[in-house]
Amino acid sequence: MESLPKENTPMQEIKDPVLIENGVRLFVKRDDLTHPEVSGNKWRKLKYNLLKAKEDGYDTILTFGGAYSNHIHAFAAAGKLYGLKTIGVIRGEEHLPLNPTLAFAKSQGMQLTYLDRTSFRDYRSAIPQLKNTFGDFYMAPMGGSNDLALAGVAELGEELNQFDHNIDYLCAACGTGGTLAGLITSISSETKVIGFPALKGGDFLYEDINEFISSVKGRNSFPEWTLNLEYHFGGYAKKKPELMEFMALFNQKYNIELERIYTGKMMFGVFDMIKKGLFPKGSNIVALHSGGLQINRS
Ligand SMILES: *Cc1c(COP(=O)(O)O)cnc(C)c1O
Repeated sequence: MESLPKENTPMQEIKDPVLIENGVRLFVKRDDLTHPEVSGNKWRKLKYNLLKAKEDGYDTILTFGGAYSNHIHAFAAAGKLYGLKTIGVIRGEEHLPLNPTLAFAKSQGMQLTYLDRTSFRDYRSAIPQLKNTFGDFYMAPMGGSNDLALAGVAELGEELNQFDHNIDYLCAACGTGGTLAGLITSISSETKVIGFPALKGGDFLYEDINEFISSVKGRNSFPEWTLNLEYHFGGYAKKKPELMEFMALFNQKYNIELERIYTGKMMFGVFDMIKKGLFPKGSNIVALHSGGLQINRS
């Protein structure tokens, strides 16, 4: 049997003169190492959704996503590992040959279906029709962010709380904000959390993240958190030379691969903030590597 994703992922300290000059330490939480195909935050967010689908007796799980999405990729692989049939509802029209993300999803047994861009904006209203076509299924939302996803991410937060240094700042990339919300609800109150939205105009995330957080019961004081909206590099999937160069150098120096949509921008932002002296001297900073490296092969 293929092995299931691993947790308790390692923490890697980055050694660089820039860090010494600015009096900070930087550690990368290597959550990209959970599993080659079900990586990082996508695994964290799927875990309890998969268990719930099984517990409730579903044999099919369905979700929504873009044609290059890490979520679709991870969902297809995770479904296979857990013996669940998967359906991926993809934004836009079918393009053949399939791109590498969708070809991979199909190779994992995912059944692909398409929803035009206009209907996709309100994808939940397509669910009854999808049930007519495919029969009953367990649905995970676009990007996988729901309350069960937050519970999975909270386990990542617990791992971080076990780290043998105090974490003064925790930095993570944001898409839907589900991952950041899961971290905010689980990380020690001593840690300040900074999110780096991948999208331009990411300030809508303040509201979304607050909504996710307020759905979590059992904790009433949360750490300080904020979003840094300055590192979207023009939008979701733009290939900016400055960013590509930073990522190549980062990989060369520290042997950590990043991708241009999420972790590359976040790490660029973290280094830029360090160089600008925005972290107090003596700070321990943790940057979450949330995985998603399939983007580099797509
Ligand atoms: C999807 C994704 C994110 C964004 O996660 P959200 O929970 O949607 O904010 C961050 N990093 C990587 C690598 C991702 O694939």
